[in-house]
Amino acid sequence: MTERKLPDNLHRDTLAVRTAVDKSQYGENSEALFLTSSFVQSDAATAVRRFANEEEGYIYSRFGNPTVASMEQRLAAMEGTEACIGTASGMAAILLMCMALLKCGDHIICSQSVFGSTIKLIGSEFGKFGVETTFVSQTDVAQWQAAVKPNTKLLFAETPTNPLTEVCDIRALADIAHAAGALLVVDNCFCSPALSQPVSFGADLVIHSGTKYLDGQGRVIAGAICGSKKIIDEQLIPVMRSAGMSLSPFNAWVVLKGLETLSIRMQAQSANALALASWLEAQPRVARVYYPGLESHPQHALAMRQQRLNGHGCGGAVVAFELRGADAEQARKNAFHVIDSTRICSITSNLGDTKTTVTHPATTSHGRLTEAQRQSAGISQGLVRLAVGLEYIDDLKADLALGLDSLT
Ligand SMILES: *Cc1c(COP(=O)(O)O)cnc(C)c1O
Repeated sequence: MTERKLPDNLHRDTLAVRTAVDKSQYGENSEALFLTSSFVQSDAATAVRRFANEEEGYIYSRFGNPTVASMEQRLAAMEGTEACIGTASGMAAILLMCMALLKCGDHIICSQSVFGSTIKLIGSEFGKFGVETTFVSQTDVAQWQAAVKPNTKLLFAETPTNPLTEVCDIRALADIAHAAGALLVVDNCFCSPALSQPVSFGADLVIHSGTKYLDGQGRVIAGAICGSKKIIDEQLIPVMRSAGMSLSPFNAWVVLKGLETLSIRMQAQSANALALASWLEAQPRVARVYYPGLESHPQHALAMRQQRLNGHGCGGAVVAFELRGADAEQARKNAFHVIDSTRICSITSNLGDTKTTVTHPATTSHGRLTEAQRQSAGISQGLVRLAVGLEYIDDLKADLALGLDSLT
């Protein structure tokens, strides 16, 4: 059978279903899972050439596996980047990126609102190796500019952030990074390539926790970095080969299949989130709703330009809301009451699942911060975060109304 090559200029939704390594041996329509640690070489001389990078071919799954390669090619096609490298988790992606691109004496500028483990990894762990980090406001471009130093190598942002959904201007940060001779790295976990391709706004590298929307059904831990072939081949792959934060072929296969439905899930979950956010805004016991799709959101206009689905601005599927309370302790009790009254939502801090999850950031994801740090981050005791799934919208409203309508 002659090999068919995909036409050029396909839509992202088509690439999401069709891009993969063509290794079909038996005509299987669903991509095969290559669950093997190593690959047999036809003879000793072939092994020599493959180990010397003189011939293409798989050797060992720590640094090359056809199932992982299919996931990498598919995600790169969706992000509009030349290349992608899969990693064991989202944090492993950030670890690999820092190990490969930074050395002692380098400086990073990082949004202070990024994922908590990212703050720990960059600020504390890499601090031990002499990498210096300045944390700045997610939305204040002047602070990013003012933090630039001669040794600045990376700017790191995440948009929208967890749980307050603050949106940063990727284009403005890319301009600052490039004028300083640095790279802009964007953690695109919340938008996924269905809503936003950070490289189209000037970002150099895109980080993913495949654990979230890419898998989409809360099954596996996975991660990836998308970017230029030059950075990935010359800087990231050698470190992966020595350090081994590799993506398991099984997890890669789950994510590969998850990507096929990403766009349609993001569309449905974002529609549910917008409906729920608008409904929450009208609830008398709710003081404030944080959702980029609402006109009341401070970066609504920017979000609608930067996050697009089928030609429309899209707020994504994470919604946070604050309950009223006479004081912080009463607000916390009210938040716990609403969470504990649900019978459908899962009480868990994961997100990106088809199942709606509900969590209390101040005592879970942000529980290790001091009260002063929490206050400066805007994480109040009355704050509840929803990662909206695919359940029927009226059932979700009713589930939250159980607690909201019975607050004393
Ligand atoms: C979950 C998450 C990560 C870490 O990903 P893991 O797969 O859990 O390691 C990084 N960034 C963001 C924004 C996340 O939500």
